[in-house]
Amino acid sequence: MLKMKKQCEKCGAATGLMDVAYICSYECTFCADCTQQMQGICPNCSGNLVLRPTRAKGPVETVVSQLKNSLLARIFHLAPAKRPVMSAQGSR
Ligand SMILES: [Zn+2]
Ligand SMILES: [Zn+2]
Repeated sequence: MLKMKKQCEKCGAATGLMDVAYICSYECTFCADCTQQMQGICPNCSGNLVLRPTRAKGPVETVVSQLKNSLLARIFHLAPAKRPVMSAQGSR
């Protein structure tokens, strides 16, 4: 799993889970301003800095919402259909 560093390694600006941040392949993390100043090159390893994906939720919350979604899907699936399912499938 990607390490989500909480601050820019150059200027110390906050790079929280939902903030714009740039990382290199070694997960050196920089804010957008510093990345621009360095022209997208990591000063530590000379690698490319790319936009880091944001992460809205922690792992636990993600699992919970996945569970909730699959439960909801199951409920919808079990809900009585207006027509018998047999006619929908089969032909074609
Ligand atoms: Zn910075
Ligand atoms: Zn680097």
